[in-house]
Amino acid sequence: TIPVLTIDGPSGAGKGTVSRLVAKQLGWHYLDSGSIYRSLAIAVLQQSVDVNDVAEIVKIAQNLALEFECNDELTVKLNGEDITAQLGLESTGAVASVVAAVPQVRQVLLQKQKDFRQLPGLVADGRDMGTVVFPDAIHKVFLTASASQRAGRRYKQLKEKGIDANLSHITSEIEERDRRDRERETAPLAMASDALYIDSSDMGITAVIEEVLSLIR
Ligand code: C5P
Repeated sequence: TIPVLTIDGPSGAGKGTVSRLVAKQLGWHYLDSGSIYRSLAIAVLQQSVDVNDVAEIVKIAQNLALEFECNDELTVKLNGEDITAQLGLESTGAVASVVAAVPQVRQVLLQKQKDFRQLPGLVADGRDMGTVVFPDAIHKVFLTASASQRAGRRYKQLKEKGIDANLSHITSEIEERDRRDRERETAPLAMASDALYIDSSDMGITAVIEEVLSLIR
């Protein structure tokens, strides 16, 4: 079987950075599952579909034409259009977490995510990678950090991208999104029983990567 390392956790815990760098180190593929839900959110917004119109959202999910290019940064195209810039917005994340709570949406997007499992291996980043999408993964990590650390990191990330941000807004948006992700009925954010728990609040990125890599080596 093709090896998979799953990295789940709440938003802003550093999953994206850690996953990308670990994938690069190992020479494995990288799945940013959040970007699939984010792309769906963008498609829903573009088509001005009501976020409560489940049937229409499921239809959009079924026809979602995505292309991923992962060099140093991830580039995502939706129907040929580069949506990378909108992908990172907190407003996109908020709509993503609403559409992600729809069970049929998760069902439709399941195979798209499983398809990323290719040789020589996959690093899969998300909320339910170790619990639902790749329950048989040999390596599982649950990466978290305190809410204030996570909000601070997200704030810094947005500033670096030149996106206007307000720390107290981000804190409340992140808390709201995490609550939705934890409390939904299908595939809620939860640690797999066989995952390694890492609290990165007081750790640098290098230390986190070392700990993750030591799991594999
Ligand atoms: O990780 P990211 O912030 O990009 O994810 C955006 C949203 O997509 C999350 O808040 C969550 O609601 C949803 N998501 C999910 N399952 C995943 C990855 C993301 O429900 N595996």
